[in-house]
Amino acid sequence: SRTSPAGSVRDYIRTIPDFPHAGIQFRDVTTLFADPRGFRMAVDQMVHPYAGTRIDKVAGLEARGFIMGGAIAHQLAVGFVPIRKAGKLPGAVLSERYTLEYGEAEMQIHDDAIQPGERILLVDDLLATGGTAEAGIRLIERLGGEIAGCTFIIDLPDLGGRKRLEKLGMSVDALCA
Ligand code: AMP
Repeated sequence: SRTSPAGSVRDYIRTIPDFPHAGIQFRDVTTLFADPRGFRMAVDQMVHPYAGTRIDKVAGLEARGFIMGGAIAHQLAVGFVPIRKAGKLPGAVLSERYTLEYGEAEMQIHDDAIQPGERILLVDDLLATGGTAEAGIRLIERLGGEIAGCTFIIDLPDLGGRKRLEKLGMSVDALCA
């Protein structure tokens, strides 16, 4: 109801068991995105640590990082750069391959998307092993960007992503576990 407190971001996320494979507890943020209070709360909380700091661009990881990243970039009044799965970006790209639990993946960035010295906020919905985020970090750093921080809605700490990114010298933020 209109008078109840807003609750926390975690309350708007549902867990779907065994998607896309048996044993995976899939954190479904579409229910957060669909809720007017939930979505706005998540964007505001992710922006908060960076308000008044120097951020030149937001980089979002395909695909749910685009949804949060676009809104965060708008809020910070900066541009947005997509980091996409291989084969989707039309211009000249840099690529980074990384290993998944089963097999390999590859992420790409346009080679003119970031200028040397620009301070970049990296955004995705969820941090698990950190492989995807690390690929994004390498792409940004190869273009000379400096990572101001890596921010996620959800951190699954048992999968080690936060430690992995902190070992790379990253500052990591997440709204919930
Ligand atoms: P990782 O590279 O292992 O950190 O995995 C992070 C990427 O995979 C993010 O883009 C997430 O959206 C997605 N992902 C990994 N595990 C889950 C999960 N349990 N629920 C939802 N998305 C996940």
